This record gives sequence, C-alpha cells and structure tokens, in this order.
Amino acid sequence: MSGGSFYYPQKMGRALLAGMEEILSPNGMRHALKLGGLENMLQEQPVQKFPFESISALQTTLELIYGPHGGRGVALRAGRASFKYGLKEYGSMLGLTESAFRLLALPNKLHAGARAFAELFNKHTDQIVRVTEGENQIIWQIERCPLCWGRAAEEPICHLAVGLIQEALYWVSGGKVFNVEETECRAAGGATCKIVIDKTPLT
Ligand SMILES: [Zn+2]
Repeated sequence: MSGGSFYYPQKMGRALLAGMEEILSPNGMRHALKLGGLENMLQEQPVQKFPFESISALQTTLELIYGPHGGRGVALRAGRASFKYGLKEYGSMLGLTESAFRLLALPNKLHAGARAFAELFNKHTDQIVRVTEGENQIIWQIERCPLCWGRAAEEPICHLAVGLIQEALYWVSGGKVFNVEETECRAAGGATCKIVIDKTPLT
C-alpha cells in the first residue's frame, strides 16, 4: 500500500521526532532511523513533509528494536513526550494557552480541547479525526491514520496516538490521569482507529 499521497507537515513530523528522540536519546534515534531505512528523517535533513508510510515505519522500527511489548512502551512514552513539542508549535494558534481556556471547568476543557486537537489534525495534516462524545467517554476516531498505515496486526498498535492523547489530557486537566484505550485499529481489522477516553480522571 502506498502512503505517498498523505502527509504530516514539517512541524507535526518534527514534534513527533523530537518526542521520540527525547526517549531514545539522539544516538538511539539515529540508530532507529537507519534501521528503519528512514535516514531522510534525520534532524539535519530539511524534510518538508512526512509521508504516512514513514510515520508508520517509525513505530514498526521501535517494535523491531525493543520487541512488541517493549516497543509499545517506548511508543507510548514517545507519544507523551511529543505533546509539548506539538503544543509549542500549535498551542497559541489553537487558543489552548489562553487564560479563557485555562479557566474553563474540566468537562468543558475536555470538550473544547478534543475539538481543537481534532481540528488541528483535520486542517493541518492529512490525518482525519472524528470526535464524538458519550456521557462518560470521548471517542477519538482516526479515519485516516498514519501510525498503522499499511500494517496488519493482531491487536491495536497506534500507541504513539494513545501516548499523545494521554499527555494532552494530563496537560489540559492540570495534572490528572485518564484511562485512554485504543479499542479498534485499522491494522487489526477495524473500520477506524478508535481511541476511547474516560471523561472521569483516575487520579
Ligand atoms: Zn491507526
């Protein structure tokens, strides 16, 4: 399958790489990119856009290096670490760093934050996200997902997205932890990559 026509823009791709590098170390990152045949994503390369197939390959490479279980853990941590780099690039544009947002009550923050983040992906990348809300849950559905692009798996594998969402919730809520779970994944036969977020924090 070709991902040649769908991309993350430079800023989004760089935020993801910066988060990964924070977890892997610069040397570990170089090793991973070389192993994955992704040398064109090295920091010194002036990459303008990141094809979905390369983003998917990043996660596959983590699984090669650390094994399926270890790779999942590293991808979750890398996703969490990526959030602050993304926020630096996009936070003020989204209005999420303004006091009007920070003063909202938690349920309203979760609502507004989920909408704003989904819009960011929908407007500025080729990733398509649809957010729906139940009484107790927010459903984040990735309809065109770069993380599992072109892959087949036994179970959901979009761990970078789960980590990113965990950290976004932590930031939005001022330090609370929420249950976030990918319950369906395109790679595992799902219609979308479906990430279910409990609205009530664990802590
Ligand atoms: Zn996916």
